[in-house]
Amino acid sequence: MDPIRIAVVGMGKIARDQHLPAISGNVAFGLAATVSPDDAGITGVPHHASLDALLADGPAVDAVALCTPPQVRYALASQALARGMHVFLEKPPGATLSEVAVLEDQAQKTGASLFAAWHSRFAAGVAPARAWLSDRRVDRVTIVWREDVRVWHPGQAWIWEPGGLGVFDPGINALSIATWILPRPFFLESATLALPGNRAAPIAADILFRDSRGAPITMDLDWRQTGPQSWDIVVDTDAGTLRLANGGAVLTLPSGTDHAEDREYPGLYARFATLIHTGRSEVDTAPLRLVADAFLRGTRLAVEDFDD
Ligand code: NAP
Repeated sequence: MDPIRIAVVGMGKIARDQHLPAISGNVAFGLAATVSPDDAGITGVPHHASLDALLADGPAVDAVALCTPPQVRYALASQALARGMHVFLEKPPGATLSEVAVLEDQAQKTGASLFAAWHSRFAAGVAPARAWLSDRRVDRVTIVWREDVRVWHPGQAWIWEPGGLGVFDPGINALSIATWILPRPFFLESATLALPGNRAAPIAADILFRDSRGAPITMDLDWRQTGPQSWDIVVDTDAGTLRLANGGAVLTLPSGTDHAEDREYPGLYARFATLIHTGRSEVDTAPLRLVADAFLRGTRLAVEDFDD
């Protein structure tokens, strides 16, 4: 089978840290081009400043990986799907739920594969956690996602703008795991969003969800964390406590702890190849729906200005 000729669009941090190595490590793909307005690209690979320029003058491409900020992703995805290209959407899949629904419909009509990727679902501990929880009674879930925005998102203006999600940019990773491993659906009961006076997006949030049996799921998100960082989910069940640490990488069950190698992006690209080869799409918007609900129903709390 010929390799899928893929273009990476949006040559920022995640494209360089994860997408390029994952593509070069997967024989199902060949990097055909890169696109980014202000980046120089990489040696030996055709580079264009915009998707328009690639489509007008560039090499033939079968698929695009959209690694831009979410606010510009819809237009790029729609343009690529209109050309029959397969589309990998970085998380979150869009800036609104409705635009993702339109893309899903467009992909179905064109027959192209649309993949709304949730990288944290491919963290090493997540699949075994999901299997272990599948026949457990969940009594309580505690999510703590506290990181230092100055370390992880330096100079990313888009993340503080409407549609950038603020602290929900990392928080949605926790929700992508929770919606995948918990055996019952859950929904938001209350939320407080901490908004710096000089920012359009929250810097912290406290949220209470409940599952369909009434079990509480609390989520503590904070971007002002210095020192040790936390990306932890603890699930209390009728059979003991499950702990997922390091963003899903380290799983501890009552029987012991499992450390496995990080395979998130290789896993995502293996999945994307399977979807393309089998003519399917995968678009789960459950994590984005929960974030939208927090913005819909959350109480805003004004907090002090925050500068990078
Ligand atoms: P980033 O470093 O700010 O990179 C985004 C890049 O998108 C910029 O370098 C910019 O290119 C490019 N861009 C902006 N508008 C564009 C357009 N219209 N066409 C083509 N390229 C455009 O952001 P990031 O951290 O990589 O995050 C990007 C996405 O990946 C976000 O949705 C984020 O949630 C997700 N993600 C990030 C991480 C992470 O650890 N950083 C992890 C997983 C997922 P120029 O520099 O050329 O202007």
